[in-house]
Amino acid sequence: MIEIPARRGKAARLRKGQMVKVINTTGQQVVDTWAFNASDLHEFMSMEHSRVAIGRIIPVVGDTLVTNNRQPILTFVEDTSGGIHDTLFAACDRWRYELLGCAEYHDNCTDNLAAGLAELGLAPPETPGPLNLFMNIPVVDGNRVEVRPPVSTRGSHVALRAEMDCIVAFSACPQDMLPVNGIAMRPTEAHFEVLD
Ligand SMILES: [Zn+2]
Repeated sequence: MIEIPARRGKAARLRKGQMVKVINTTGQQVVDTWAFNASDLHEFMSMEHSRVAIGRIIPVVGDTLVTNNRQPILTFVEDTSGGIHDTLFAACDRWRYELLGCAEYHDNCTDNLAAGLAELGLAPPETPGPLNLFMNIPVVDGNRVEVRPPVSTRGSHVALRAEMDCIVAFSACPQDMLPVNGIAMRPTEAHFEVLD
């Protein structure tokens, strides 16, 4: 089991057929998730292409997420979290926190993606829209989006199977100015495990 420290990012290599289990250790922590083709980082899991492929905005068990070249990259194989995730919101970044009134630098998922990949000697060509695991962004009245606390519980998890050799990256979202990570607004660690 590998820790994604609170407010930080982490990445790992997956071979085709391997699974990664993403664990919501404390229950209220959103984990921004990305996947890149191991042989070409310019091909990556794309939420806008995946929504077309699966015909919904929140993937369910059995759904295969695709890249910006519309190739299968990760399949949802297990979900004990309550099934509420987000594919609509961009990763947080320093400008998001500046707009929320934060005067100093604030940890953010965009920089965490870069830091996680840097540990593998890699750099993201851009910050793709993330699969925001455990993030609760309901569409209200058919059009408005709201930020609500996660519904996931302590120790619940999602398992994703690699459909190509890929690099997966995670960020334990450091959002502490909105209830993204629970009403306490206290970001925590999460964990993942690579399974053969
Ligand atoms: Zn974030």
